[in-house]
Amino acid sequence: MQTTVLDKFKIVLAGTTHPGNIGAAARAMKTMGLSRLALVSPKIYPSAEATARAAGADDILANAGVYGSLQEAVQDCVMVFGTSARIRNLSCPLLSPEQAVAELLEYAHKPAEVAIVFGRERTGLTNAELDLCHKTIVIPSNPDFSSLNLAAAVQIMCYELCKTTRTDAVVRVESGTQIDLVSIDDLNHLYSHLREVMIQIRFLDPQKPRRLMRRLKQLFNRSNLDQNEYNILRGILTAVQESLSKK
Ligand code: SAH
Repeated sequence: MQTTVLDKFKIVLAGTTHPGNIGAAARAMKTMGLSRLALVSPKIYPSAEATARAAGADDILANAGVYGSLQEAVQDCVMVFGTSARIRNLSCPLLSPEQAVAELLEYAHKPAEVAIVFGRERTGLTNAELDLCHKTIVIPSNPDFSSLNLAAAVQIMCYELCKTTRTDAVVRVESGTQIDLVSIDDLNHLYSHLREVMIQIRFLDPQKPRRLMRRLKQLFNRSNLDQNEYNILRGILTAVQESLSKK
């Protein structure tokens, strides 16, 4: 089978309660040419209802990865966008579906992977999950009734991807900047290292962390760190630790 830029996109469903929505999301993906589904702690899965609602997209279900946390599901990705029906406090930059797809396509070059994450039916994504996301996508809707069905939200994002890639995405991706972005896994190592150093220099009180780490994560999510910048920051942190140990 021919691979396309759509194969770089992972659709991640976090904490889905109704297996029917998982099947309907797989169907939505397949109709738009997407194939990579990741499930984070689904409540009931596998399930006959999911297979029934997939209506022939069972191959997507069969190949879906199942993970214990969002961190694990996206650790190979360099760009992760969450979706939300609500604008929350301290939220990361908000994008429309069109803006999000245009940005993600810039990064979906080899060997980078990108992800779009969808939340639970009742409660959406947790703050910790949103903190893993570089940006948040909000699908424009009725302000008094803004929450779409999960699979309907997946359908809209996949449609947007399908529509855009059919026209100009291939050209865009080929000519896109080949930035060597860090993966979520690397970022997580940077956060642990930074936290450790901030505790050592008494900038962060682990008993009263407040929102310091969340704010820093959002800062780094906005900055699209590349591998070189990541190495510099890790190097600085290590130098701080070496200098402390000499005192
Ligand atoms: N009350 C929940 C709604 C969850 S709807 C909340 O406040 O987030 C289930 C999922 O569908 C959401 O987590 C999101 O991934 C997606 N979704 C629903 N409506 C959306 C919208 N208008 N924009 C973006 N994503 C939406």
